[in-house]
Amino acid sequence: MNTFADDTKKIYAELPSLLLPWYGQNKRDLPWRENTDPYRVLVSEIMLQQTRVEAVREHYLRFLRELPSVADLAACPDDKLMKLWEGLGYYSRAKNLREAARQIAAEGFPDTREGLKKLKGVGEYTAGAMASICFSRPEPAVDGNVVRVLSRLFGDERPAETLCEEYTKKLAPVYPEGRCGDFTQSLMELGATVCTPRSPKCMLCPLLSRCKTKGDSLPRPAAKAERKKFEMTVFVFVTPFGTGLRRRETGVLKGLWEFYNTEGKQDEKAAAAHLKSLGLKNFSLSAPKTHKHVFTHLEWDMTAYGVRTEEKPGFLTWFPAEEIGKNIALPSAFRWCAKMSE
Ligand code: SF4
Repeated sequence: MNTFADDTKKIYAELPSLLLPWYGQNKRDLPWRENTDPYRVLVSEIMLQQTRVEAVREHYLRFLRELPSVADLAACPDDKLMKLWEGLGYYSRAKNLREAARQIAAEGFPDTREGLKKLKGVGEYTAGAMASICFSRPEPAVDGNVVRVLSRLFGDERPAETLCEEYTKKLAPVYPEGRCGDFTQSLMELGATVCTPRSPKCMLCPLLSRCKTKGDSLPRPAAKAERKKFEMTVFVFVTPFGTGLRRRETGVLKGLWEFYNTEGKQDEKAAAAHLKSLGLKNFSLSAPKTHKHVFTHLEWDMTAYGVRTEEKPGFLTWFPAEEIGKNIALPSAFRWCAKMSE
């Protein structure tokens, strides 16, 4: 008798023969698929974490033009690195990537899942993707896209966040020799282009005849954690010396340039008192502007003032206003108020 477990096992075993021909005919032409050089693949995988393919494409090409080798990235100074990463968000990924390049420059490129996981910023998924794509190892790369495909395929109603490990173990034995990288990418590609979060294109899916759900009922949405809210007041200095910035010292966006800011939502009177407490004597404030900036788990409720003054506070680093956003990378959380410096 054919049990449910046997059926599932059989479908796993069929996945390469169902997916590889489909992938061969339908894969998107993406710049990081030109070859399987591990440096190029590493850069693309880190850029693609939490960022859409279309947003990554141009950044990726520019990044490789400027930093074509591991050695170039390992030696890249902060400002240049932040400028190349500008627009991709989650800047800690860029610093981790450079740290990984330094590890590789010192010790060589690891070619196993476990070795790859020792690189800064490389987790299970990226290690599996690189081991299979670059080094032809039967190492699955299971992310949210792949969990979505498999949970729908098998009608698996368990919470999505518990399934990565199990799917990784079950996929590993069916990896086809010589096509490991293509198999990994075929699963990713199906999740990205056909078995999409909403309205999957089931009629175009090579797994349709085996699929238990044929729709977007799974995976069950996880309960969303409430975003933390944080109020801040931002001061954009407008002076004969240009615009003052400082490096952010803690928390999200740590190490990046920012306008001077302080915690809390200040009205004009409180804002003026705050500036006086910093030692400023003669200044005028513009009318405030407000903006909400949303991160994954955090929301900034920002109030910004332009500060006109001929004084030059020593706690800021000064740049010509037109350099901001051009040669000096400014995170998008602060870009909306950069115009106040003109
Ligand atoms: S048939 Fe539909 S739901 Fe099932 S795997 Fe394919 S696209 Fe996803």
